Amino acid sequence: MPAKTMDQLVSLCKRRGFIFQNADIYGGLQGVYDYGPLGVELKNNLKAAWWRSMVYERDDVEGLDSAILTNQKVLHYSGHEDTFSDPMVDCKKCKSRFRADHIDGKCPNCGSTELTEPRPFNLMFKTAIGPVDDGSSYGYLRPETAQAIFTQFKNVVDSTSRKLPFGIAQIGKSFRNEITPRNFIFRVREFEQAELEYFVEPGEDEKWHETWKEERIKWWEEQGLKRENINIYTTPKEDLAHYAKACYDIEYQFPHGMEELEGIANRTDYDLGNHTKAQDEMNLTSNCHKNNESTQKLCIMDDKNKWVVPFVIEPSMGVDRGVLAVMTEAYTEEDLGEGNSRIVLKLKKHLAPIKVAVIPLKKNNEQIMAKCHEIKKNLLKLGIGRVALENTGNIGKAYRRHDEIGTPLCLTVDFETIEQQPESVTVRDRDTMEQHRVNIADLPNYLREYFL
Ligand code: ATP
Repeated sequence: MPAKTMDQLVSLCKRRGFIFQNADIYGGLQGVYDYGPLGVELKNNLKAAWWRSMVYERDDVEGLDSAILTNQKVLHYSGHEDTFSDPMVDCKKCKSRFRADHIDGKCPNCGSTELTEPRPFNLMFKTAIGPVDDGSSYGYLRPETAQAIFTQFKNVVDSTSRKLPFGIAQIGKSFRNEITPRNFIFRVREFEQAELEYFVEPGEDEKWHETWKEERIKWWEEQGLKRENINIYTTPKEDLAHYAKACYDIEYQFPHGMEELEGIANRTDYDLGNHTKAQDEMNLTSNCHKNNESTQKLCIMDDKNKWVVPFVIEPSMGVDRGVLAVMTEAYTEEDLGEGNSRIVLKLKKHLAPIKVAVIPLKKNNEQIMAKCHEIKKNLLKLGIGRVALENTGNIGKAYRRHDEIGTPLCLTVDFETIEQQPESVTVRDRDTMEQHRVNIADLPNYLREYFL
């Protein structure tokens, strides 16, 4: 059964070292979290799975890793300076501030109905760039990774000779000064996004929008999310951003409710149109910002030798929300009978922070420890991910810990290992808790088959 409450997840994350409040020792920084020893592995594994499916397994996508510091002009012409804001209301009584679309005419803090009219609140972090902080030289911490994909469009096309349809993928940090960060890592001020901008011939956009919706649902299922916990929300026409032609949200049943995990938008030719020079020659369909400063035409030759500004389909997921979703789904409390129970994190094995734990039955036995080190060193060479030597506590505690952090396999080195030929270890499976002996010589093949 998936996690019932956010508290269970928050507690596990802190107890086992997945996620900590940032600046905890100073009382924290609101809406900012740090990933601990296991969280960094889980998050890296989720990003690697995304990159593999978006870039390596396809023949039509290239990667990019652009800077976080963003030229003011980029976010001016993208429209963010003008419009990247949430309407907010202030409570006149307790002075709390909330997103207008999150409340129901009443202050969630003190219950007062004395609220200001909704006002726009720009969500971008403005920052001084250069030696003098005189207000004239500034940029932003990017509020999404997508804009650099558009501004680098021409460089990527020129250096890779791409033809439509093709995509550019990027994973990286984004920053939004959210008015009400909440629900653990669901809504934060510093987060990571994994975004694909997929460029298509105008007219082919609707077809590709459907295709990407299906692809992305399939991918989330491969990360362990059950289809019944996923909902596809189609934004009603009247609620669409002015540039979007259509938008699907992939929603997930988080502990706090069914909420957005990933957006998949048909952004038409709005973004490239905003950043291109010679807008008048481009037959743009969107209502773009007038741009006399761009130095490049952001178009591509189509198969009829005509220059076109492609339409963009954008699957954009939040990595942190992804981590929260896979943890929610994996969190399981099992009744083992006779008053015993266990918490087990049934993560897909490719996501598990630690793939294999090598556990000595007796940690003060030199021979056993030497064998553990040797096994760990050899298994690392397989490239299956992190193999950890577990030398805390007794064997029962070690199993409990590795169940809770989702380690798929525990290998125990005992007296039989060092005393009998051929050398063998006990392999314990996280989900079934079944144990069997495997010869050390057979371990590489056994694990390769299991993980790769
Ligand atoms: P929301 O409506 O929840 O504020 P959004 O529609 O503004 O999200 P997008 O701009 O479409 O979000 O960003 C794409 C993805 O980035 C979202 O689906 C979400 O997973 C993630 N994301 C956006 N804002 C945040 C945030 N403050 N904290 C964590 N993840 C976020």
